[in-house]
Amino acid sequence: MELLLENALVLTCDAARSVRPGATVAIAGGRIAAIGEAETLRAAHPEAERVDLSGKAILPGLINSHTHTLLMVLRGTVEDMSGDAIYGYMSPISFAMTAQERAAMAELGCLEAIRSGTTTLVDPFRHVTDYADAMIGSGLRLYLSESAADALTLEIRHGRYVYDRAWGETFLARAEDLIARYHGAADGRVKVQVAAHAPDNCSPWMLGELSALAARHGLRRTVHLSQSPIERDQVRAAHDATSAEYLDRHGWLADDVVAAHWTFCTPDDIALLARRGVHFAHCAASSSRRGPHPARADLAIDAGVNIVLGTDNMSEDMFAAMAIGAIVQRGTRGRSVDPASQALLDGATRNGAAALGELADLGTVEVGKCADLAIIDLSHPALCPAINLVSNIVHYGTPEMVDSVLVGGRFVMRGRRVLTMDQGAVVRRAQAATEAAWARLLAAGDLAAPPSTVPGFGAGAGRG
Ligand SMILES: [Zn+2]
Repeated sequence: MELLLENALVLTCDAARSVRPGATVAIAGGRIAAIGEAETLRAAHPEAERVDLSGKAILPGLINSHTHTLLMVLRGTVEDMSGDAIYGYMSPISFAMTAQERAAMAELGCLEAIRSGTTTLVDPFRHVTDYADAMIGSGLRLYLSESAADALTLEIRHGRYVYDRAWGETFLARAEDLIARYHGAADGRVKVQVAAHAPDNCSPWMLGELSALAARHGLRRTVHLSQSPIERDQVRAAHDATSAEYLDRHGWLADDVVAAHWTFCTPDDIALLARRGVHFAHCAASSSRRGPHPARADLAIDAGVNIVLGTDNMSEDMFAAMAIGAIVQRGTRGRSVDPASQALLDGATRNGAAALGELADLGTVEVGKCADLAIIDLSHPALCPAINLVSNIVHYGTPEMVDSVLVGGRFVMRGRRVLTMDQGAVVRRAQAATEAAWARLLAAGDLAAPPSTVPGFGAGAGRG
């Protein structure tokens, strides 16, 4: 199918960061065939459907470089609870959920992502084959991975690190299965990566196995890096190293690796990460819920690190990732206007494509690239007045200004209506799945229930 998206303001995010007012984008075979004048392109594509985008802007579809859609199940709970959420709640509830509940939450994440102008999700998590089909149904472009560990995940919240090869083997088997079934699926819209969950829960053996797996299949790698005091202290105790030093020792710092957070990285760590070409997934909105995220973005920027943006947990809103990313990254210099707004938008578009090794196909609006596009409504009050649209998007952008989204030249949302999913059903299933998963979790263990406005929620806490 051919499409002509006519008379739009195009923020290309190309190498020159060109802005093209009144431009028409021709799409054929899922890719951008031409950008130019409407009349010329109508002559060249007489059969194409014409879509008038006067009063709208086209930008590259946003790339969420680090998220866990399944953790939507914790939205509105652990944000306001103290203590370690990663091993305290995220791991336990993810293991407690049924396959159906996992799929319901992943669908909710995809729905929110589409409504927020996102076209690509990079989503490492566990039991991915339980919900990969649900995500694929959304129409999004996906980079999935089974986030592996060989420390017994559910023991860590009790202060015990028990490294167990059989446990690690189950992750490796699931990762192999994911690769076999989904790498290149949906006409190449789905790709698989290799993920080590974190330096504290992966032994040198596990890191080696995962690197070998990535090498065998030619896949890129991802890992959380220095994300919590628990991780920092365990890696120091077990390996007498920082998390970055430990990963480097075992071949996990390289330019095929995206590492998320860098929260407790030292200046020396950041210099090392920069030398190795590791990409930095900065998830400021999620990481700043307990105060501004302290990762030294200033040092990373000055060292030339490729910074990409992600939402991490309980949200798929990349506009919040950009706005809070600006505040937090600038805050590392005291008070500053560095990085510029365009750099934040790059972090949600072209930099993300570069981190995936896909800049030839994704991340900008240029001829030959995949037609992954977000169309925004310039009449939205938050975008007016528009002196510098890039500044407006970064500082004041909201999902509501996204009018339509295309992935590979196909509309997945058009005129604010998601075409690939039944929004009401997705929301209902997610609510039911969340209540069921929490009820099972709380009935089974010793975890405290979060405050809730749902009658009877958490009634089972402390039993069993
Ligand atoms: Zn994460």
